[in-house]
Amino acid sequence: MTAPRPDFPMHVSVEQAREMLAALLPAPATETVGLADALGRTLAAPLGALVSHPSATESALDGIACREADTWAATAAAPVRLRVVGESRAGLPFTGTVGEGECTRIYTGAPMPPGTEAICPVEELADDGDDVLLRRPASPGDVRPEGGDFRAGDDVMAAGLLLTAPRVALAAALGHRELAVRRRHRVALLSTGDEVVEPGEPLSAGQVYDSNRYGLAAMLRECGCDVLMLGHAPDSPDALHAAIESAGGADLLVTSGGVSMGRYDFMRDLLIEHGRVAFWKVRMRPGGPALLGGWQGLPVIGLPGNPVSSLVVFHVIVRPALTGQSLQSLTLRAATPFRALPDKTAFWRGVIDGGTVRDYGRQGSGILRSLSDADALVIVPEGRAVAAGDDVQVVLL
Ligand code: AMP
Ligand code: MG
Repeated sequence: MTAPRPDFPMHVSVEQAREMLAALLPAPATETVGLADALGRTLAAPLGALVSHPSATESALDGIACREADTWAATAAAPVRLRVVGESRAGLPFTGTVGEGECTRIYTGAPMPPGTEAICPVEELADDGDDVLLRRPASPGDVRPEGGDFRAGDDVMAAGLLLTAPRVALAAALGHRELAVRRRHRVALLSTGDEVVEPGEPLSAGQVYDSNRYGLAAMLRECGCDVLMLGHAPDSPDALHAAIESAGGADLLVTSGGVSMGRYDFMRDLLIEHGRVAFWKVRMRPGGPALLGGWQGLPVIGLPGNPVSSLVVFHVIVRPALTGQSLQSLTLRAATPFRALPDKTAFWRGVIDGGTVRDYGRQGSGILRSLSDADALVIVPEGRAVAAGDDVQVVLL
C-alpha cells in the first residue's frame, strides 16, 4: 500500500514559510502607550513633528556670537577686538541686537542673537575687560540652523517602525507624549515530549530538561509578545488535544516537539484531523521538520524538539513574521569553510572575530551550547559552499 499524497505543501523555502506564517497572523489592533512604555513596541501610525528641532537657530559651542565680517582679519599675531554686550543662554536668549564690532557670550543650545551669524569658540578667545580678543575668524559652521534636525509638520517616522531606544527619544523630541502602537500578539506556548522534565526536578536517564519552553518564551518576550504558558504535554493525542484547546483566545500557538517522522510525533496528524496543515517541512537545517497549520482559526507553528532547531526556526521564521521586521543580515569574510547542503539552506553557528566569522565547530541540532556560544547564524544557500576568504551573509544572534 502506498501512503496517500499529502494535500499540503511540503519542503517549502524559508521565505515561503515566513510569508505563510505572517499571512495567518491576525492584523494587530492599535492601542496607545506613554513614551516610558514604548520601548520594543511597533508604531501603528506615522509620526509627524509637532515642532521644529532646533526650535531656533542656535550655537553648537560655548564661546561668543558675532558678525562674521567683523572677524575675517583675526590672526594669532593680530587679534580682533569685539565688545561684549550681553549673553545668550540655553532657554534664556539675548533680547537686544548686536551691532558692528560687538558680540555676546553664548553657550551650547542658546539661540543666536539677532544680527549675529557666527561663533568663535571659548578656546580661541582671550578676555580683556569688557572686550574679547579673537585669534582666528569666527565660523558660521558652528551654528545649528532652526529645523536642521526636523521641521514642524515633517513626516518623520513611518508606521511599522520598531521603537528602539533612539526612536523613543526621537518620538519625544517630535513632541508626542503618547504613541499609537500595535497591540502585542498573544502567543500560547506548549512543549511536548514524554521525556521532557521541568528544570530542577530529578532527571532520570533518557530525560531532558525543558529548555525549549523557556528559550522560546524569552524569544517571544524579546519580540514584544504576551506569552501564555501552557506548560508541557506528554506524547499522547488526547493530552495534546486538550493542551491545544486550552490555547483559545491566543493569536498564535507555538509548540515544541512531536513534528518529525517518529511513531510518537502526533502534532501533524492532530492538525490534519482537527484543523488543517499549511505546510510541513522547511528546506533548512537545523529546523527541517517545522510544521504550520491551523486549529479552529488558531494558527499553530510546530517547532522541532531539538533545542537548536526550535530556536533557529524561531529566529529566522517566527520572529520576522511576528514583528513584521525583515530578517537583517550582514556580510562578513569567512575565516573557515562552511559546507553547503544540496537542497536546504544551512544556518551554521559562527563565531565573529573582527570582520570575519569562523565555524563554531559542533553543529549538531542538539548542541544547545552552539547557540549560546556563537555570535551569528551563517547562511549557506542551497548547494553553494563557502570557502575560507569568501564573503558570507550572517544573522546576528
Ligand atoms: P522531537 O522533535 O519531539 O522528536 O524531539 C527531538 C529531540 O529534542 C529529542 O532529543 C528531545 O528529547 C529533544 N527535546 C524535545 N523537546 C524538548 C524540550 N522542550 N527541551 C529540550 N529538548 C527537547
Ligand atoms: Mg518528542
